[in-house]
Amino acid sequence: MRIDVLTLFPGMFDAVFGESIIRRAIGSKKVSINLHNIRDYTKDKHKKVDDKPFGGGPGMILGPQPVFDAVESVKKKNRNATVILMSPQGKLFAQAMAHRLSGRKGIIIISGHYEGIDERIRDIVDEEISIGNYILTGGELPAMVVIDTIVRLIPGVLGDSESSKYESFPFGLLEYPQYTRPAIYNKMKVPDILLSGNHRLINLWRRKKSILRTINKRPDLINNIRQLEIKDTTR
Ligand code: SAM
Repeated sequence: MRIDVLTLFPGMFDAVFGESIIRRAIGSKKVSINLHNIRDYTKDKHKKVDDKPFGGGPGMILGPQPVFDAVESVKKKNRNATVILMSPQGKLFAQAMAHRLSGRKGIIIISGHYEGIDERIRDIVDEEISIGNYILTGGELPAMVVIDTIVRLIPGVLGDSESSKYESFPFGLLEYPQYTRPAIYNKMKVPDILLSGNHRLINLWRRKKSILRTINKRPDLINNIRQLEIKDTTR
């Protein structure tokens, strides 16, 4: 997959893309991530990319010209890419959306900044994505959230030991409780079942815990589950 990010602050991405799983995914060529400074595309002689809103009002608006030119230029290398605008007015980002996007060959992400963007930029956008019902200073953190979530779903990016298969959300459920050594810590014992070696019972226990956890912590997700009437008799 090829990802191009249009931003006014490319330096913000260095730490996230230079570490851990994303760095490995770039190293093994599962993904290429290319950062473009929107300011490099402005035709303004003072390198300005924003201006006051027509009709008055607070703040500055990211103008259309640098963004249109940046997208046109980047599309020459990332043909047929889906153009995504990070925006609090977009569709709420969720795991199912990440799965869908992880199958794309190319993505171009526009990170807004300032008070907002010129409305005409929406003409060249395929999807508008919000990461939550709150306002951030810019689209850089949202873009990183979306890219991280997508990249770890690209086949081969996570090793077996880190597989996303059993994490929260793929089946509409939260993940079951996990433990590691020691088996007893500060008098708190790991549930016996997990030490039993009986994988059929362990799987049943995990499934049950997932369902109960989802009911208790995220009842809004529960529509996906049919059998709700299970009593928690295990610990
Ligand atoms: N005034 C705008 C509005 O009310 O829609 C918000 C502008 S915000 C300060 C600047 C930029 O940050 C936005 O253009 C967008 O790219 C990004 N942004 C802020 N909150 C976001 C969110 N929850 N999800 C995605 N992007 C967001």
